[in-house]
Amino acid sequence: MATFIQNSFGLKVSAGHYVDYSSAEDLRKALRDSTPKPWLPIGRGSNLLFSGEVFQGTVLHCTDDTVETSFGSNYVRVRVGAGLRWDAFVEMCVEKGWYGAENLSLIPGDVGAAAVQNIGAYGIEAASIISSVEVYDTFEDCERVFFADECEYAYRSSIFKHCDKRYIVLKVIFKLSLEPHFSLNYGNLESALTGEPSLQGVRNAVIAIRRAKLPDPEQIGSAGSFFMNPVVSAEKLAELQSSYPDIPHYPAADGISVKLAAGWLIDRCGCKSMRKGDAAVYEKQALVLVNQGNATASDILALADFIINSVKDRFGLTLRMEVEVV
Ligand SMILES: Cc1cc2nc3c(=O)[nH]c(=O)nc-3n(C[C@H](O)[C@H](O)[C@H](O)COP(=O)(O)OP(=O)(O)OC[C@H]3O[C@@H](n4cnc5c(N)ncnc54)[C@H](O)[C@@H]3O)c2cc1C
Repeated sequence: MATFIQNSFGLKVSAGHYVDYSSAEDLRKALRDSTPKPWLPIGRGSNLLFSGEVFQGTVLHCTDDTVETSFGSNYVRVRVGAGLRWDAFVEMCVEKGWYGAENLSLIPGDVGAAAVQNIGAYGIEAASIISSVEVYDTFEDCERVFFADECEYAYRSSIFKHCDKRYIVLKVIFKLSLEPHFSLNYGNLESALTGEPSLQGVRNAVIAIRRAKLPDPEQIGSAGSFFMNPVVSAEKLAELQSSYPDIPHYPAADGISVKLAAGWLIDRCGCKSMRKGDAAVYEKQALVLVNQGNATASDILALADFIINSVKDRFGLTLRMEVEVV
């Protein structure tokens, strides 16, 4: 019987073959059984857009949600199974008084995918708290550990994202501080806090801001930001500023380039209320494409194409998708 694949766009997709695993041993056994390729490791499908109704390969899904800890003088190392829901992990950190993950509250998906995607929000990326990642290497048929500096972390990117699905994440090891420190300089986070910052206060503020501007995946299908914010040179910014003096821009991670707000660019192209079938641009955030009910992958991709072409024509910039089409 075909297995339905969970995906936050709410598309009806099933898998030709579906494997739940909780250890390297499970994977080794499953992959030896001439499991049909391609192999697709997934978490909760919150960054995936399935282009067909059946995925003709094998979906690999981690069910390991175990947590182990070891303490240093002012930090804790937490070894977490790739199948733990990300926000359950953040909630646990906040309850235990471990600092570093709170700005990443309420991001959908699992811990394993967070290390693949280098998820980010409110000025923090997962890379800043990841110490190492344990994987199963499907090419060499062995387990392997990547320390953080080997993971090639960048904006929504890592070595695991560009490896042809070679590495399947088994465990992620985080290093969190036991001493209070907060990162509140991003957007309206600080002003959304009531009183002195606390872990629970920051988590509550992040959750409130996110609920106000992002669709609830339980109610409206989406994959969060559909496009990445473009990173451009200072020269390109100057060229754009001559026509659009109010264009929002932020320093990029390399300290040289400039990050632009894709939502603003899309808005300026007049795409905010755009629809193709049941696929629509979310009215509160133009970066997000939503499924208003019965959208197909073709509707969503047609809308995305229209937006990409509009931004290209107007600003000379090519938007890249953050969502992965499979
Ligand atoms: C409403 C909404 C809001 C969002 N907000 C944010 C946000 O603020 N910041 C942000 O960064 N993202 C955000 N996202 C995107 C999404 O939550 C993240 O990309 C998340 O990490 C995806 O997790 P997942 O478990 O659903 O992964 P999936 O979508 O299932 O997979 C994502 C990628 O990871 C790979 N993968 C998954 N598990 C494994 C594994 N065990 N081993 C190897 N590869 C694996 C998949 O092959 C795929 O390439 C949002 C999404 C939604 C729907």
